[in-house]
Amino acid sequence: MNIVILGSPGVGKGTYAKILSDKYHIPRISVGDLFRKAIRDETELGKKIKDYVSRGDLVPDEMVIELVKERLKKDDCKNGFFLDGFPRTIAQAEAMEKFKKIDKVLNFVASDWVIMSRLGGRRTCRECGAIYHVKEIPPKVEGICDRCGGRLYQRSDETPQAIKNRLRVYREKTKPVTDYFRKKGLLADIDANYTFEKVGKVISRCEKHFQNLS
Ligand code: ADP
Repeated sequence: MNIVILGSPGVGKGTYAKILSDKYHIPRISVGDLFRKAIRDETELGKKIKDYVSRGDLVPDEMVIELVKERLKKDDCKNGFFLDGFPRTIAQAEAMEKFKKIDKVLNFVASDWVIMSRLGGRRTCRECGAIYHVKEIPPKVEGICDRCGGRLYQRSDETPQAIKNRLRVYREKTKPVTDYFRKKGLLADIDANYTFEKVGKVISRCEKHFQNLS
């Protein structure tokens, strides 16, 4: 099943996508993670996109579309994927429809208050990309990933100014993508206003939409 995951920065979509990916043995492809790795490894792409990512601006469409197209061709995606962070513009959505069939788009929704608190407290594993929250999902040992023992860090785009910019970019560029898929009958809104203790509730809401998908 080919699932696209949409939602505002901080809504928790990466966390939910990871849980779904573990459960269904289908990879979670996070464009943000691919970009952060390229920046860390100082690849050609990494050098080109670094400033966009740290400001919280979108990377130009032509750089993103090719990257995702190639990634989805890999063998691990043959039974499907949870694609987190793409498409984020109408141009990306139109391009994707030409190279991949989309079965469902899950759109995670939460209030501004929930979103701000999640973004401020988020910590990410440098090695495996697992996501924690200092209050809601703390790791067992402070600063260390439960899954792989990697170091946790606060992303460079999690300064108050970059957060504000990411939310503005989301409203202007990505919100229209949700309307685009809604009109096509592919979108399902998922209420993600719960604390992470209720993660099972959110996951089962997602799963209702997987019925009849292969
Ligand atoms: P979030 O959804 O919390 O903002 P991500 O980890 O998904 O964070 O993305 C981090 C950054 O990577 C974005 O702010 C943007 O700079 C870049 N990025 C990710 N996905 C895309 C995309 N589809 N198009 C353009 N830029 C992207």
